[in-house]
Amino acid sequence: MYIIFLGAPGAGKGTQAATVAQKLNLAHIATGDLFRQAVERGTELGVKVKSYMEKGMLVPDEITIQMVLERLVASDCESGVILDGFPRNLRQAKALDSALAQQARAIDKVVYITVPEEELLRRLSGRWLCRQCQAPYHATDSPPKVWGKCDHCGGELYQRPDDTPQTVRERLQVYFAKTAPLVDYYNQSGKLLEVDGAGEKAEVSRRIVRAIHGSLAAS
Ligand code: ADP
Ligand code: ZN
Repeated sequence: MYIIFLGAPGAGKGTQAATVAQKLNLAHIATGDLFRQAVERGTELGVKVKSYMEKGMLVPDEITIQMVLERLVASDCESGVILDGFPRNLRQAKALDSALAQQARAIDKVVYITVPEEELLRRLSGRWLCRQCQAPYHATDSPPKVWGKCDHCGGELYQRPDDTPQTVRERLQVYFAKTAPLVDYYNQSGKLLEVDGAGEKAEVSRRIVRAIHGSLAAS
């Protein structure tokens, strides 16, 4: 099973993708996390992508597509995958479709998480992440038990350098210009499951799982 999670920055894609992947026993591939790890480690890939990420721009397609296709052949992907943050434009979507088609596979479902724009801005500006396990927190909505420390692993919490107000605006613009057209693309093939991303995290997870199960039962 291949499921894509689609939604604006701040829609809760990453949080929900991690939770739902665990519930459905699927691998979770988050391109943003993969890039951030590469930057932290200072790898060749990290050096290439750092400046794009800092500006809130998309990393070039060749780099991104190659990284994802390499990751998809790992053994943990055999039982299925949730793709989080990929594809992010039509070219990436088409490259993914044709790579899967070569193995007689296809995307099964696309979960599209919607949240009003003011709420996106509010969520992004209070966001903190664990440096070790990437667990997300929010200064007021979901603060850690001990300030600055991850509840799960004790890791240090930090704010993403691309969560500054100016870069957040740029990322939202990139999203509406390049990624939002994918909603139509996947809707046309009947794969789109639109889910309301407002409200409590656990409730949103339940909505997503219900939508996936419901659509699989119907098909
Ligand atoms: P968000 O969805 O909150 O903006 P991500 O963690 O998914 O954040 O991505 C952070 C950054 O990583 C993006 O702004 C972009 O620079 C880069 N990136 C992630 N996924 C892709 C992709 N599929 N194509 C190009 N760049 C990407
Ligand atoms: Zn942690």
